[in-house]
Amino acid sequence: MRMAEPGNTDRNKQLNRSLVLNIIHKNGPITKAEISKELELTFATIGNITSELIETGAIKVTGYGQSNGGRKPALYEINWENNYVIALDVGVTKISAAIVNLKAEIHARCDVEMENSQYDLTFIERVFKAIDQLLSRTDLSHLKIIGIGVSAPGPIDEESGKLLSLPNLQEGRNVTIKQQLEQRYGLMTVLEKDANAAALAEQWFSNMQMKENILYIFADQGIGGGLIIDTRIYRGFHNGAGEIGHMSIDVDGPRCNCGNFGCLEAMASGISVIKQVKKEIRRGASSSLAEIYLQDEKQLTLDLIIQHGKNGDPLVKNVLDQTGRYLGIGVANAINFFSPSQVIFGGQMIDLYPEIVKIAERTAKPRFFSDAASRINFTNSSFGFDASLIGAAAIIQQKLFDKPENTIIK
Ligand SMILES: [Zn+2]
Repeated sequence: MRMAEPGNTDRNKQLNRSLVLNIIHKNGPITKAEISKELELTFATIGNITSELIETGAIKVTGYGQSNGGRKPALYEINWENNYVIALDVGVTKISAAIVNLKAEIHARCDVEMENSQYDLTFIERVFKAIDQLLSRTDLSHLKIIGIGVSAPGPIDEESGKLLSLPNLQEGRNVTIKQQLEQRYGLMTVLEKDANAAALAEQWFSNMQMKENILYIFADQGIGGGLIIDTRIYRGFHNGAGEIGHMSIDVDGPRCNCGNFGCLEAMASGISVIKQVKKEIRRGASSSLAEIYLQDEKQLTLDLIIQHGKNGDPLVKNVLDQTGRYLGIGVANAINFFSPSQVIFGGQMIDLYPEIVKIAERTAKPRFFSDAASRINFTNSSFGFDASLIGAAAIIQQKLFDKPENTIIK
């Protein structure tokens, strides 16, 4: 473990606090003497830090340990339940806002659809509407809100807190969402790409806690990827990492939203499933969806298509099988390059059709180069439809553990 030198500089203090919080998270309930031994920091230093963390509300005393003759030592734990976060998930079809505690339990939520009737509101007005409605429905008197976590499809600039473009909205370029939320609500706000946020949620809140290297595949209307390396999000140069959706799968493949041809997103995303089913129906393929398509093609949502696939529609089944195989090829490429210990699949495609992960796994495994890769776990996200919303809460949790002084609660 990385140790901070005992000292008085702000940087060391910050690192020490973060180390203490992490040890309490990992090993709590735990005494000051045990923390001091584990971190090789003096008892006095640990005493100062635990007092500060108690004051901020980040930790609490939950009991007393065995005495060695003197007073019984206090046992410290993270104050999970009493610290809440406003989690905001910007999706393609809706904005979801929720009040979530640091155990990923949703206390209240509010969704605002991106439907036409609301196009008179700007994007940021819709975000405010979701949060304002959430707050108006919640009794905040006994809750401590420590920040706002925002999860959004890329591209984003995490450092300046800007959404560089918005899904399906013409107006959106360089939206300063972090700054505007901080101004309006007076709460620390952190922005993260949805796939990274969902990967963090698995790391912090699922039973698979603290996996060191995670590849998260967010298979939704589009396809995103999140990377956690040595327990930290890997962003790459200018937040460019993780774009598995734009990995080339077929040089002669269909055109992707990004302008290239044959990207994984153009061949294995929710949007590509819808496109392929419509194309085959136009070509005369037999399908239980043909009549609905002819009446009103807008009714062919991913949800409806997958329902028909589950009911045995041969066209949809073929498209989904092929989609799973492409997904597997994309994942095999990523695994051979990055060798994660865990691959987690989330997003609407996975929630609606979890079996697709098995197809992807069967396709990927024979393509692994390293023998060790056969031991990599393929799993479905623990949080289903709420993966990126819970991820928005995990962003703040990560921040609390990294820089607790940012989240001091009054
Ligand atoms: Zn692309």
